[in-house]
Amino acid sequence: MNEFELIAAINRYTSHLPDNGFEGIGDDCAVLPLGDEALVFTTDALSEGVHFLTATTSAIDLGHKALAVNLSDVAAMGVRPVAVLLTLSLPREVEEHWVLDFMVGFAELAQHYGVALIGGDTTRSEGGIQISVTAIGRGPLRHIKRRSAAQVGDIILVSDRLGGSAAGLRQLWEGKVQSPEIEQHRRPMPEVEVGAWLGAREEVHAMMDLSDGLKSDLRHILNASQVGAEVQVNNIPRAANTTLGDCWCGGEDYKLLLTADPRQAGILCEEFEAQFGRNLAVIGHITEQGLRWFDHHQEVSCDYEGFSHF
Ligand code: ADP
Ligand code: MG
Repeated sequence: MNEFELIAAINRYTSHLPDNGFEGIGDDCAVLPLGDEALVFTTDALSEGVHFLTATTSAIDLGHKALAVNLSDVAAMGVRPVAVLLTLSLPREVEEHWVLDFMVGFAELAQHYGVALIGGDTTRSEGGIQISVTAIGRGPLRHIKRRSAAQVGDIILVSDRLGGSAAGLRQLWEGKVQSPEIEQHRRPMPEVEVGAWLGAREEVHAMMDLSDGLKSDLRHILNASQVGAEVQVNNIPRAANTTLGDCWCGGEDYKLLLTADPRQAGILCEEFEAQFGRNLAVIGHITEQGLRWFDHHQEVSCDYEGFSHF
């Protein structure tokens, strides 16, 4: 079973349980509507040896990243993160200064976005450092953006240039130690302000954050909304020093992917640029079914090994 088949199986074994008013599994966050407001909940774990190596990732960067990936899932729902819980499972041999450095990175980002740490758990681990963060967001219920809300005819947009993190990772493999791309890979900044701003826009329909890469993540919106898409890969905004593959298939950018009413495209993009000083880029549109990629009007396919025209 792959990750998504496993999640589907977990869902089947628990779908008979009461929902108690929550919208559960399947989006970036679970949603609890409370009158005109909503709370959203998400959790993400980082595991030593799988997500990071202590030899190559500093504790301060890891503290930043563990929080950033969770704040990104809250931003993807269109509301602001307000609080987090932190669980640390630590091997006996972990040094005290490692944990304190981790907390410096974590607390700096939490302060930047005004997020409270309200609890967690601390245990011993027999299998490397394990970190789990749960984030809670809050905002008006009508601002919540679900993956399932894309409509046929919608335009597809991304909130910033893509591929920076993949380019940074490649540079690290090549032995480089410092660059803007490496910084972006090590300390991604979640789209907290952008997410809340887009949440308030009625013309924005579906939204999610890009954690696995555009090619793979777009499918989640299409599946949840039961629609298709056509995307012009030459219109994907590219970060500096990236290949098309970095922008198309590369993960860990933590930018937002959204769909919106095409009649409001002009005003949405204009006001976004006035607000954030960068482009909200239109990369394609929603169709009835299927997923097709085009490069300068020629249909193309992509696999992780490379890129081929047919
Ligand atoms: P994201 O990349 O946005 O964090 P994931 O791909 O990790 O989302 O998860 C997809 C969906 O499956 C989410 O709604 C998440 O809450 C849910 N999910 C993942 N793992 C589990 C699990 N072990 N039990 C219940 N729900 C899960
Ligand atoms: Mg997500």
